[in-house]
Amino acid sequence: PGASAVSKNIAVLAGDGIGPEVMAAAVKVVRKVGELYGHRFNFEDYKVGGAAWAAAEAAGDTPTHLPASTLEGCEKSDAILFGSVGGPVDQQHEPRWKDCEKNALLGLRKRFKLAVNLRPSKVYPFLSHLCPLKPSIIGTGVDMVIIRELVGGIYFGEHKRDGDKAFDVMEYTVEGIRKPMVFAFEAARLRRKKVTVVDKANVLECSRLWREVAREVHKGYPDVELDFMYIDNACMQVIQKPSFFDVVATGNMFGDILSDAASVLPGSLGLMPSASLGDGLHMYEPSGGSAPDIAGKGVANPIAQILSGAMMLRYSFQLEKEAAAVEAACEEVLKSGRLTGDLLEESQRSNAVSTSAIGDAVVV
Ligand code: ATP
Ligand code: MG
Repeated sequence: PGASAVSKNIAVLAGDGIGPEVMAAAVKVVRKVGELYGHRFNFEDYKVGGAAWAAAEAAGDTPTHLPASTLEGCEKSDAILFGSVGGPVDQQHEPRWKDCEKNALLGLRKRFKLAVNLRPSKVYPFLSHLCPLKPSIIGTGVDMVIIRELVGGIYFGEHKRDGDKAFDVMEYTVEGIRKPMVFAFEAARLRRKKVTVVDKANVLECSRLWREVAREVHKGYPDVELDFMYIDNACMQVIQKPSFFDVVATGNMFGDILSDAASVLPGSLGLMPSASLGDGLHMYEPSGGSAPDIAGKGVANPIAQILSGAMMLRYSFQLEKEAAAVEAACEEVLKSGRLTGDLLEESQRSNAVSTSAIGDAVVV
């Protein structure tokens, strides 16, 4: 082990559906990179979602989607690696699946104050045929990360109906904005050093406050470029000139909209990691869900989960070299044409590589 070797505890919450399959691949990769660089990573499994519910039932305990033991386990850890939770659409009425996502995810979000969401959207040049945009638009490449404030704004303000009138309140504080903004500048420093704040400052007072905070935080990051864009224009540019963006910082509602728009660019949910950042303890998970339609078949794409692990190395453990090594290894495997079914045309699916084979390929 080198002088800079670290020792970290990782809470592993694989959950339901494809969660356990893709998690096995991600844990294998993170474990391996730890060995290669001399770090000590200690993985502890905890139950969450329908899996937690079923385990409690089997043990004769009161079932829950987010057991106290899981929360305590997370508390003792340095990071949470999360898979996915939830069951098939046609089984939502069953107690095991009812409100499963809400209970598990909102519970974790609340407990660990996961106030900032980070979603990268990247088009690999050799997979650009999966991107719905023309090659001339993809141009030099698409590689952005959207940083969305998650616990404030109009979704959490007062909602009221009053006869023929209704209103929803958008409210932000300097503190509530500073948090995602600092993450945005920190992330930009590790990337192409550009932050674009997306807002509606021509209309909204909240957006003017976002700009004020952005300019103030910017003073601490003179090496990073800062610009501003209205949300309507940003929705156009994400489609018309996506290579423009590096780091986007935005509020809850605009981030919700813009990150869904950007999520179609890579071509599969199976490629997209995400991070939810709290006060010290962060959680990493694929952008996609439990994908019940393909669960248990060993065909899910583990890349999103593996890249979530890379984000954990970067943002929780400050292991930039190790994170970059995992990303490069994923890229190498994809480039070599070893692909899961979601990245192949229907007619090519018989050539698909399994979930575990992708995990093994990334490791070597
Ligand atoms: P949930 O309610 O948990 O989000 P869902 O039915 O909406 O479940 P998603 O997980 O969001 O399903 O996935 C949407 C589609 O994308 C599904 O057809 C799913 O098979 C596919 N998909 C998602 N993640 C992956 C993955 N890692 N590998 C392959 N396909 C995936
Ligand atoms: Mg879904």
